[in-house]
Amino acid sequence: MIAFMLWRFLLFTGAIGLAGLAGWLTLGQAGLLMGVFLASLAWFVGDTYWSTRLRNWLKRNDQSNPPAMLGLWAELGYLMRRQFKLHEKRVSESQTRLQEFLAAIQASPNGVVLLDAQGRIEWCNQTAAIQFGFDAQRDLLQLIGNLVRDPAFLAYYTANNYSQEAVIQGRDSTPARPVKLAVHLHPYGEGRRLLLSRDVTAVQQAEAMRRDFVANVSHEIRTPLTVLTGFVETLQNLSLNEDERHRYLALMAQQAGRMQTLVNDLLTLSKLEGSPLPGLNDRASVQALLTQCEQDGRALSELLTQGQNKKQQLKFEVIASDDGVGDLAGNYNELLSAMGNLVSNAVRYTPSGGLIEIKWKNLPDGRAEFSVSDSGPGIAPEHISRLTERFYRVDHSRSRETGGTGLGLAIVKHVAQRHGAELVIDSTLGKGSKFLMTFPAVRMIHLRELQVRNLQESIFRSDRLPVP
Ligand code: ADP
Repeated sequence: MIAFMLWRFLLFTGAIGLAGLAGWLTLGQAGLLMGVFLASLAWFVGDTYWSTRLRNWLKRNDQSNPPAMLGLWAELGYLMRRQFKLHEKRVSESQTRLQEFLAAIQASPNGVVLLDAQGRIEWCNQTAAIQFGFDAQRDLLQLIGNLVRDPAFLAYYTANNYSQEAVIQGRDSTPARPVKLAVHLHPYGEGRRLLLSRDVTAVQQAEAMRRDFVANVSHEIRTPLTVLTGFVETLQNLSLNEDERHRYLALMAQQAGRMQTLVNDLLTLSKLEGSPLPGLNDRASVQALLTQCEQDGRALSELLTQGQNKKQQLKFEVIASDDGVGDLAGNYNELLSAMGNLVSNAVRYTPSGGLIEIKWKNLPDGRAEFSVSDSGPGIAPEHISRLTERFYRVDHSRSRETGGTGLGLAIVKHVAQRHGAELVIDSTLGKGSKFLMTFPAVRMIHLRELQVRNLQESIFRSDRLPVP
C-alpha cells in the first residue's frame, strides 16, 4: 500500500514538476507558478470527474454497464466490477442451494412448517399444506393457531412442552375415514419453531387391528375353555352314571375340537402371511383339487347330518369345463385350504336337502374360474364387503354350531391374493350364495398345453433311452 501511495505521489509530483518546468522554460518564474497551478487544477478536475462517474455508476445499481475511465479510476472500476460478479455468483450459488434444499424438503413424505417467534407460518411444504389444509402461498404469515383448530393441537401448542409428539385429527378426517396426524414441534433460533407432521393413520389402524385380533382370539378361546372347565369340575364333583359321563366327555371333546380348529386356522393364516408367494413353477392338479373338495364336502355333510338329525343330505354337483382341466401354477395345500373353506361354508350354511355346485370354468381369455354355489340362506348385501375380515360373522350361532372359526374367508382371501386371483361374492338373501375365484391366465396350464408338454417330455425321454 505504501509503495502504491509512493508511486501515486511520484506521479503527482512528476506531473506538477514537468508542468512547472515547462512554464519556467517558456515564461520564467511566473510561468513556473502558472504551470504548477494548472497541473494541480487539471489533476483535481480529473480526479473529481472520474470519481463522480464512478459514484454515479455505483448509485445507478446497474453494474453491467461500467463507465469508461482512465488510470487508477479505471482500475478501481474494474476491481469493483469483479467483486460484484463474485458476489452475484455467490448469491446465485446460495440461491440454487436453497432451492435444492427446499425441493428436498418438498419431496419429504412428512409435513414441514417453519414458524416465526409469533407462531406465524413462514414457510411450509406441500405435504404439510395438504395435511393441515393450508394454502402454501396465501396462508404465509398467518398464525398457526388460527388455522389448525383441533383442540388437541392447540393444547399441545400452548403447553410449551415439546418433548413428545401429539396425535391430532387430519383435515380430511371423517368418522368413516379417520385420518390421524402425529405432530412434533422443535424450537430453534430465537423463539422460532419447526413443526413436523406425519400421517399415522395406517400405523394406528394396524395397532387397532392388532388389539382387536388379540381380543377376538382371547374371546374365541375363552368360550370353549370356560365350557370345558365347567365339565371338568362337574366330572370331578358329581358322581355320574355311564351315559352321563359319555355325554359330558363327548361335549368336552367337541369344545376341545373347536379350540383345535381355531388354532389350526390361526396357524394357517400366520403361515400364509409369513411364507414367500407361490412360484409359477409350483403345480397343483385342478382335477385333484376338485375331487378332494367334493370328498371333503360330502364327508362334512354326512357328519353334520348325523349330528343334527337332518332328514336329507345335501346334493353335490361338480362341473368341469368341457375342454378339460389342466394344472394351476400354485401351492396345492394353500389352494385346497381356500377351496375347501368355500365348500365347507356352503355345506355348513345350506339347510338339509340343498344343492352345492362346485364348478371349474376355463375362460376364453386364458383365465379360469373356480366357484362354489349353494342354495342356502344367502347373505345380505351390507355384510358382503366385510365377510373376509377376521372373525366377522353374519350368523354367530350358526357359525359356532357348525364348527366355524370366523377365519375361513380370511384364509380364502389371502390364498386368492397370493395366487393373483380375484375373489367375488355374489349372494341373494333367501336364494343362495356363489363364491368365485378367478385365476389369472399366467397361472393356468390348460389341458391341451399339458398334453403337448407331456408328449414333448416323453419324446425327450425316449430319445435318451439306451439303444438295445
Ligand atoms: P365361519 O367360520 O364363521 O364360517 P367364514 O370366514 O368362513 O367364517 O365366513 C364368515 C361368515 O360369512 C360366516 O360366519 C357366515 O355368516 C357367512 N357365510 C360364509 N359362507 C356362507 C354361505 N355359503 N352362505 C351363507 N353365509 C355364509
